[in-house]
Amino acid sequence: MTGVIRHRGDYTWEGVERLAYKQEPGSHFKDVTRQVLSAGSPGLFAELRYFEGAPGGHSTLERHGHAHLVVIGRGAGHCLVGAEVRAVAALDAVVVPPLAWHQFRATGDEPLGFFCVVASARDRPQLPSAADLEALASDPAVKAFIRV
Ligand code: MN
Repeated sequence: MTGVIRHRGDYTWEGVERLAYKQEPGSHFKDVTRQVLSAGSPGLFAELRYFEGAPGGHSTLERHGHAHLVVIGRGAGHCLVGAEVRAVAALDAVVVPPLAWHQFRATGDEPLGFFCVVASARDRPQLPSAADLEALASDPAVKAFIRV
Protein backbone atom coordinates (compact mmCIF):
# COMPACT_ATOMS: atom_id res chain seq x y z
CA MET A 1 0.00 0.00 0.00
CA THR A 2 1.29 3.48 -0.81
CA GLY A 3 0.09 7.02 -0.25
CA VAL A 4 -2.25 7.87 2.58
CA ILE A 5 -3.57 4.91 4.55
CA ARG A 6 -6.64 6.43 6.12
CA HIS A 7 -7.48 5.73 9.73
CA ARG A 8 -11.14 4.84 10.07
CA GLY A 9 -11.35 6.25 13.61
CA ASP A 10 -11.44 2.99 15.54
CA TYR A 11 -7.82 1.85 15.29
CA THR A 12 -8.45 0.24 11.93
CA TRP A 13 -7.32 1.52 8.54
CA GLU A 14 -9.03 1.55 5.16
CA GLY A 15 -7.96 -1.38 3.02
CA VAL A 16 -6.10 -3.07 5.85
CA GLU A 17 -7.27 -6.43 7.10
CA ARG A 18 -7.34 -7.10 10.82
CA LEU A 19 -5.67 -10.47 11.42
CA ALA A 20 -4.78 -12.75 14.27
CA TYR A 21 -1.42 -11.73 15.70
CA LYS A 22 0.41 -14.80 14.47
CA GLN A 23 -0.35 -17.93 12.50
CA GLU A 24 2.63 -20.00 13.62
CA PRO A 25 1.63 -22.94 15.82
CA GLY A 26 3.28 -23.02 19.24
CA SER A 27 3.49 -19.24 19.40
CA HIS A 28 1.83 -18.36 22.68
CA PHE A 29 -0.12 -15.12 22.68
CA LYS A 30 -3.54 -13.95 23.85
CA ASP A 31 -6.11 -11.55 22.41
CA VAL A 32 -3.82 -9.64 20.08
CA THR A 33 -4.64 -8.52 16.54
CA ARG A 34 -2.29 -7.48 13.73
CA GLN A 35 -2.77 -5.01 10.90
CA VAL A 36 -0.07 -4.56 8.27
CA LEU A 37 -0.27 -0.89 7.24
CA SER A 38 2.66 -1.17 4.87
CA ALA A 39 4.42 -4.32 3.76
CA GLY A 40 7.24 -2.17 2.41
CA SER A 41 7.84 -0.35 -0.85
CA PRO A 42 10.78 0.18 -3.22
CA GLY A 43 13.56 2.01 -1.38
CA LEU A 44 12.15 1.16 2.02
CA PHE A 45 13.29 -2.06 3.62
CA ALA A 46 10.85 -1.97 6.48
CA GLU A 47 7.25 -2.81 7.27
CA LEU A 48 4.81 -0.92 9.48
CA ARG A 49 2.37 -2.94 11.53
CA TYR A 50 -0.17 -2.07 14.23
CA PHE A 51 -0.81 -4.57 16.99
CA GLU A 52 -3.49 -4.31 19.61
CA GLY A 53 -3.99 -6.33 22.74
CA ALA A 54 -7.34 -6.41 24.53
CA PRO A 55 -7.13 -5.93 28.33
CA GLY A 56 -5.06 -8.84 29.61
CA GLY A 57 -3.86 -9.64 26.09
CA HIS A 58 -0.18 -10.17 25.42
CA SER A 59 2.26 -10.75 22.58
CA THR A 60 4.53 -13.77 22.35
CA LEU A 61 7.60 -13.86 24.60
CA GLU A 62 10.31 -14.09 21.95
CA ARG A 63 13.63 -12.86 20.63
CA HIS A 64 15.27 -12.64 17.23
CA GLY A 65 18.24 -11.18 15.41
CA HIS A 66 16.28 -8.27 13.97
CA ALA A 67 15.29 -5.21 15.98
CA HIS A 68 11.90 -3.61 16.55
CA LEU A 69 11.02 0.05 16.73
CA VAL A 70 7.73 0.44 18.57
CA VAL A 71 5.54 3.46 19.24
CA ILE A 72 2.64 3.00 21.62
CA GLY A 73 -0.48 4.31 19.87
CA ARG A 74 -3.23 3.65 22.35
CA GLY A 75 -3.84 2.81 25.97
CA ALA A 76 -1.29 1.59 28.45
CA GLY A 77 0.42 -1.54 29.66
CA HIS A 78 3.83 -2.98 30.34
CA CYS A 79 6.60 -4.44 28.26
CA LEU A 80 9.62 -6.59 28.85
CA VAL A 81 12.70 -5.58 26.85
CA GLY A 82 15.80 -7.56 27.67
CA ALA A 83 15.86 -7.89 31.45
CA GLU A 84 13.62 -4.93 32.26
CA VAL A 85 9.85 -4.59 32.71
CA ARG A 86 8.61 -1.06 32.11
CA ALA A 87 5.24 0.68 32.09
CA VAL A 88 4.32 2.13 28.70
CA ALA A 89 1.57 4.45 27.53
CA ALA A 90 0.46 6.21 24.37
CA LEU A 91 3.25 7.95 22.45
CA ASP A 92 6.07 6.24 24.32
CA ALA A 93 8.65 4.76 21.96
CA VAL A 94 10.38 1.44 22.60
CA VAL A 95 13.50 0.11 20.89
CA VAL A 96 13.92 -3.67 21.06
CA PRO A 97 17.53 -4.51 20.20
CA PRO A 98 18.65 -7.71 18.47
CA LEU A 99 18.27 -10.86 20.60
CA ALA A 100 16.52 -9.07 23.48
CA TRP A 101 13.64 -11.04 24.98
CA HIS A 102 10.47 -9.01 24.63
CA GLN A 103 6.78 -9.17 25.39
CA PHE A 104 4.01 -6.57 25.50
CA ARG A 105 0.91 -6.90 27.68
CA ALA A 106 -2.19 -4.79 28.26
CA THR A 107 -1.91 -5.01 32.03
CA GLY A 108 -4.75 -2.65 32.89
CA ASP A 109 -8.40 -2.42 31.94
CA GLU A 110 -7.73 -0.74 28.61
CA PRO A 111 -6.32 -2.04 25.34
CA LEU A 112 -2.68 -1.59 24.43
CA GLY A 113 -2.13 -0.66 20.79
CA PHE A 114 1.28 -0.14 19.28
CA PHE A 115 2.90 0.53 15.93
CA CYS A 116 5.91 -1.63 15.13
CA VAL A 117 8.49 -1.02 12.42
CA VAL A 118 10.42 -4.11 11.39
CA ALA A 119 12.82 -5.08 8.59
CA SER A 120 11.10 -6.69 5.60
CA ALA A 121 13.82 -9.36 5.45
CA ARG A 122 14.19 -10.80 8.93
CA ASP A 123 14.92 -13.96 10.85
CA ARG A 124 12.22 -16.01 12.53
CA PRO A 125 11.42 -15.41 16.21
CA GLN A 126 12.90 -17.80 18.77
CA LEU A 127 10.78 -18.96 21.69
CA PRO A 128 12.35 -19.39 25.14
CA SER A 129 13.69 -22.78 26.18
CA ALA A 130 13.19 -24.07 29.71
CA ALA A 131 16.70 -22.80 30.53
CA ASP A 132 15.89 -19.38 29.05
CA LEU A 133 12.72 -19.19 31.15
CA GLU A 134 14.64 -20.14 34.27
CA ALA A 135 17.18 -17.39 33.59
CA LEU A 136 14.44 -14.83 32.95
CA ALA A 137 12.62 -15.87 36.12
CA SER A 138 15.69 -15.16 38.25
CA ASP A 139 14.44 -11.56 38.32
CA PRO A 140 11.21 -11.46 40.38
CA ALA A 141 9.73 -8.57 38.37
CA VAL A 142 10.35 -10.39 35.11
CA LYS A 143 9.05 -13.66 36.56
CA ALA A 144 5.81 -11.95 37.62
CA PHE A 145 5.35 -10.27 34.26
CA ILE A 146 6.01 -12.88 31.59
CA ARG A 147 3.30 -15.11 30.14
CA VAL A 148 4.16 -18.29 28.27
MN1 MN B 1 9.34 -9.65 18.11
